[in-house]
Amino acid sequence: MCDALWFDPTEMLIGGTWKQAAETLPLINPSDGSPLADIARGQAPDIDAAVTAAHAARAGDWGRMTATERGRILTRIGQLVLTCVDALAEIEAHDVGKPLTQARADAVALARYMEFYGGAADKIMGETIPYLDGYTVYTLREPHGVTGHIVPWNYPMQIIGRSVGAALAMGNACVLKPAEEACLTALAFARICAEAGLPAGALNVVPGLGAEAGAALAGHPHVQHISFTGSVRTGALVQQAAGANVVPVTLELGGKSPQLVFDDADLDAALPFLVNAGIQNAGQTCSASSRILVQRGVYDEVRDRMAAAYTELTVGPAMDDLRVGPLISQRQKEIVTGFLTQGTDLSIAAQGHLQNAPDNGAYVLPTLFDNVPPDHSLARDEIFGPVQVLIPFDTEAEAIEIANSTDYGLVASIWTAHGARQMRLAKALRSGQIFINNYGAGGGVELPFGGIGKSGHGREKGFEALYGFSTLKTVAAHHG
Ligand code: NAD
Repeated sequence: MCDALWFDPTEMLIGGTWKQAAETLPLINPSDGSPLADIARGQAPDIDAAVTAAHAARAGDWGRMTATERGRILTRIGQLVLTCVDALAEIEAHDVGKPLTQARADAVALARYMEFYGGAADKIMGETIPYLDGYTVYTLREPHGVTGHIVPWNYPMQIIGRSVGAALAMGNACVLKPAEEACLTALAFARICAEAGLPAGALNVVPGLGAEAGAALAGHPHVQHISFTGSVRTGALVQQAAGANVVPVTLELGGKSPQLVFDDADLDAALPFLVNAGIQNAGQTCSASSRILVQRGVYDEVRDRMAAAYTELTVGPAMDDLRVGPLISQRQKEIVTGFLTQGTDLSIAAQGHLQNAPDNGAYVLPTLFDNVPPDHSLARDEIFGPVQVLIPFDTEAEAIEIANSTDYGLVASIWTAHGARQMRLAKALRSGQIFINNYGAGGGVELPFGGIGKSGHGREKGFEALYGFSTLKTVAAHHG
């Protein structure tokens, strides 16, 4: 079955049937700029057909299934994904430019999401509520109905796992719009779901452009919830479109996540996290740690040790499985290079180096900037490339002020042995996730994840996501 996951991607899955798209879009291999495939260019009528098919699934086999049966199917999907980890990783490496080891980790995480939500499907319950004499009051957790999932290109498998997995567990029927830059594993996942026995129409996949298929899904009047992961600009548009239909939206947007390193930190433990959290997936991670705030007493040592690690970073084609692959596209390369140009007034502590990198690949050297003022654009704006800035600080209060000074609040980490300081900072930092003496960029299937401020709202991952993908009904029975 895993061999069959490489197939003609000009089709869309609607109501359990693979349908040829009227038009196609070219897909580029970012490692060398070569054409990879043509993909479906879904349009508003395709989204409309997918939404109709999803409603039919809700009214049919899928909607009638017990929570336990749904859970079994999700668990089976997870098991099939696990048998196809290598095939999925190879597809992702070609499509996203992700080094094979990182692509494999994404496939394993996808399996883990399906196992987690498969196990959770029949464990989400309502409550009974003490009320007036003569009444019994209870709550029912019910699916929204049809949920829309708009997914970016950076972690297709993980983001599909966390949002579609939780939505299906609650009994919703899903319409998935993967990114136009990378949609192959979304299609492969849909094949695996069918193989595992997911009823027709429970998951529909319509690739296409954001302004066409994406906008049609966000504004569709018969979709009851939208989960969006991507940029702040597009998130605001999606929220506006869904708002016109009074449809709830979960927004997982960008970040400028800091790691705070204090004088008493265990630097041997911190060092691998400080670097990896910035360069994993070539920095194209919403929860990448792009700001390293270091207390003055250990600043020089942290800079020198990070710089030494940077000079060892190899950059090249995804299939060579080096530390850093290409960016997703030439367009993304231009954006990141533009940011590097803004840093010409700064000093570079170190850069990585290319290794057998084809000229037409979208490569950018990992770059570590030294002693960056907290109000510099490189210290405030999300770059979405392998770029980190080092910022010195003196006091705890100054560290908190700098950490909280951007528009974002997705992830933060605190490196210190001081227990009371750990607790103080965990409260003081404005962020959806806090890590103490570790950094979990993107990880943690079990851990609720999401941002505050421009990083978005709503939570995915963990049990919390099941509340987001369901609605609560209160039943008050008067029996005297
Ligand atoms: P993007 O917002 O352009 O695209 C994301 C998705 O939205 C794609 O599927 C795209 O086709 C679709 N889309 C685009 N325009 C649309 C519209 N008008 N209506 C509906 N859908 C539309 O983002 P990108 O450039 O692909 O991704 C990079 C950004 O996403 C970065 O800022 C990054 O931080 C953020 N991101 C956040 C997370 C997270 O979990 N918080 C994860 C990945 C990426």
